[in-house]
Amino acid sequence: MSYVYDDQNIFAKILRGEIPNTTVLETEHSLAFRDIHPQAPTHVLVIPKGPYVCFDHFAQTASDAEIVDYVRAVGEVCKLEGVEADGFRLIANAGKNGVQDVPHLHVHILAGRLLGPMLA
Ligand code: 5GP
Repeated sequence: MSYVYDDQNIFAKILRGEIPNTTVLETEHSLAFRDIHPQAPTHVLVIPKGPYVCFDHFAQTASDAEIVDYVRAVGEVCKLEGVEADGFRLIANAGKNGVQDVPHLHVHILAGRLLGPMLA
């Protein structure tokens, strides 16, 4: 499938500095910041800086350097937030059925409470 990236999405605006964010970690290819409507005591979004719509788009077209940076950024945020011991959840919604609101790849890191069953 080919993806068309909308550069007016909210996370693109955050990356351009047009909208403020609470940054947790910035690396060469990734940015992690706090979700504006946290669903758990820890709720951090990790995005690649490149124009990728969703996980599938990223996996198909990003460079190895971007992918390695992104995966390591997710791990680094878990370490910085101290969530490894008690556990956490990673979620990457995609497309209509995945109920993805913002069309720029993001992994939600949720932690800090018992999250309950995953599927709604
Ligand atoms: P999705 O449903 O696309 O997986 O999740 C989008 C997430 O982005 C939601 O959890 C929502 O609260 C968050 N979000 C939407 N707009 C903003 C914003 O302007 N700033 C931040 N930090 N998070 C946002």
